[in-house]
Amino acid sequence: MRVWRKHGLGNMALNVKELLERRLPAEIVGVLKEAGEEANETGSEAYLVGGVVRDLFLGRGNVDLDVVVEGDAIGLAKRLAERYKVRLVSHSRFGTAKLRFATFSLDIATARTETYSHPGALPAVKPGTIVDDLKRRDFSINAMAVCLMPGRFGGLFDPLGGKEDMDNGLVRVLHDRSFVDDATRILRGIRYEQRLGFRFEENTERLLRRDVKMLHTISGDRLRHELERTLEEEEPERALRRADELGVLQELYLALKGDGWLAKVYRRARRGGRKPLASLYLCLLCYQLSEQEAAGLLEHLNFPARARRAVLDTVRLKKEVNKLASADIKPSAVYELLHTYDNVAIEANLLAGGSPLAKRHLQLYLSKLRYVRTLLDGVDLAALGIAVGPAIGEALNALRAARLDGEVKTRRDEVEFIRSRFLSQD
Ligand code: ATP
Repeated sequence: MRVWRKHGLGNMALNVKELLERRLPAEIVGVLKEAGEEANETGSEAYLVGGVVRDLFLGRGNVDLDVVVEGDAIGLAKRLAERYKVRLVSHSRFGTAKLRFATFSLDIATARTETYSHPGALPAVKPGTIVDDLKRRDFSINAMAVCLMPGRFGGLFDPLGGKEDMDNGLVRVLHDRSFVDDATRILRGIRYEQRLGFRFEENTERLLRRDVKMLHTISGDRLRHELERTLEEEEPERALRRADELGVLQELYLALKGDGWLAKVYRRARRGGRKPLASLYLCLLCYQLSEQEAAGLLEHLNFPARARRAVLDTVRLKKEVNKLASADIKPSAVYELLHTYDNVAIEANLLAGGSPLAKRHLQLYLSKLRYVRTLLDGVDLAALGIAVGPAIGEALNALRAARLDGEVKTRRDEVEFIRSRFLSQD
């Protein structure tokens, strides 16, 4: 491995202590120093690793801290939990622990080496050195470590050339079988490339194109997880477009497209500056699919019930929405058509298509009609003399329709409405 030889194992020339102190909150720096001191007392070595180190150089805030320990990770986690009085969840079988501070989380793991028995298998794990632990990682930019030990605090340990790749804006795998071992790295890599404005190093892109088919070795649940993480990006259309271009999206599910249309509706979803729900992005991604195709995707990636409902409602509503393209449709009829659909599906349809008139009705429903409530409730109706049972529901529906259409305003109007429609006057 070229970079490996070039940099050697002991490259700790760069010290990032000042950068740490400048870019991370003082509380976090304090905890990291304490972690180093505690590790020192038991003869362990502790390093800050992974995304937080990468983001430190990029000036991107990241409060998901990962610490790797050569030695007793769980013992260290326990002492820190005690010292800071924070919640600890540990998995002794995996040698990992998580500490939850008020404003950040700290994962502590035993340094390990990983081997894959076959493509897509979950790795077999053994305790190892910090070098082993960095070598098992996905990309060089995620394989840098910062030493936390007293006297060496802040020393960058970068045996795989991550810093140089950072400086050149490159996403590089650590060996030629990386995507074969774990094809989820394909989707991870695309995320990093697009999020950070980087590009795949040439050989990495060649390997990725060669290994796209290995996505078949990954379970639906793991693929879904990667897609969900992609949809949580600030601008998911970038990664989806790139995934399309690299043939990855089609490998995930043939009918998916990450095209210019998608980019346009995603940008529209962000108008007003809010971050859309990942489920809205998912519904928009599926908007162009037929109902059958959408059902196939949901099955293939084993989506949970809520997401299934939102996506299927999206493609079903797409076929109905033109019924709302009429100027004289009453608000109660708009409500009647839409109230059984998932709200995210309605929002997706509003963003994605339909005539201006239909859109106006979708908007009216989302901003107003869905919140309309009658002043009388079931108990009131029973007191007025409506028979307890289905008749109450029917009367309430009629009353809500009257309110939606502006036929009743006050409580007295509602009582009158019920009396005249549902109760005999004599
Ligand atoms: P993000 O900013 O997207 O959360 P992250 O780098 O913090 O990125 P995590 O998914 O939290 O990513 O993983 C933490 C670290 O674990 C990564 O930086 C990487 O070094 C390593 N890692 C995660 N998933 C893999 C994988 N599939 N293969 C190899 N290494 C991985």
